[in-house]
Amino acid sequence: MKVSFTQVDTACMVIDINGFVIVTDPAFDTEGTVYEGPRTLYKTGSPRLQPKDIGPVDLVLLSHDQHKDNLDNAGREFIKTVKQVISTPGAVERLAQNNVTGLNEWESISIATAKVPGLRITATPCQHAPTQEQTKISGHVIGFMIEWEGQQGALYVSGDTVYFDGIEEIAKRFKVHTAVLHVGKAGFPDINYMPLTFTTEMAIQTARLMNVNKFIPTHFEGWKHFNEKPEYLHEQVTHSDIKEKLLWLQPGTPAVIEI
Ligand SMILES: [Zn+2]
Repeated sequence: MKVSFTQVDTACMVIDINGFVIVTDPAFDTEGTVYEGPRTLYKTGSPRLQPKDIGPVDLVLLSHDQHKDNLDNAGREFIKTVKQVISTPGAVERLAQNNVTGLNEWESISIATAKVPGLRITATPCQHAPTQEQTKISGHVIGFMIEWEGQQGALYVSGDTVYFDGIEEIAKRFKVHTAVLHVGKAGFPDINYMPLTFTTEMAIQTARLMNVNKFIPTHFEGWKHFNEKPEYLHEQVTHSDIKEKLLWLQPGTPAVIEI
């Protein structure tokens, strides 16, 4: 089936599967927005598309709602307008909207649509920091395995996670064709820049472990707390053994592949 990927901003991407439109981790705020909190966040880039450019959306996959880079202020308004949102059980409570479904790790939901027969979403485990203490502070996050009938292999969207044994379990349970991985090495000075999302190295390791056909990096631009630059990421991947697998998206421009 033809699938198009359009990078919008951060981990916000439009994934169009034969006309069934999914938006991941909605981020539509513009450059210069400041988010006060226990750790103040700074938006340093703007989204390439706004909801009006995307048009009707069938489904939002929200890896977690508690962090502004995965669901910003405009994203929060946007998800009130869509048919269905899949996220964590905690997000269901906090967002208190009747269009949100919560999944725990390995739980699946089937979605009836003539556009994508057999469409099924399974929540995959994430660990949003390398230490237990910081993982608790970061809170519950899920990734997504997207499957349908006649697929060459599954489509995996990692969510915010570091490399941990859950990634190995995912690789055991699923044959992944395309992996969308949240990179950028998010981190903060008060915790000595410990990686809260994949480093480039972890992402390469994950893509290699899953033996993917395509590796699509996302979540590496638009915020001050992302500590690996796109140039570094691109350079490292194009000099690795998975260089042939890289699908490097140009923000706002759809890339179409067969899955
Ligand atoms: Zn996060």
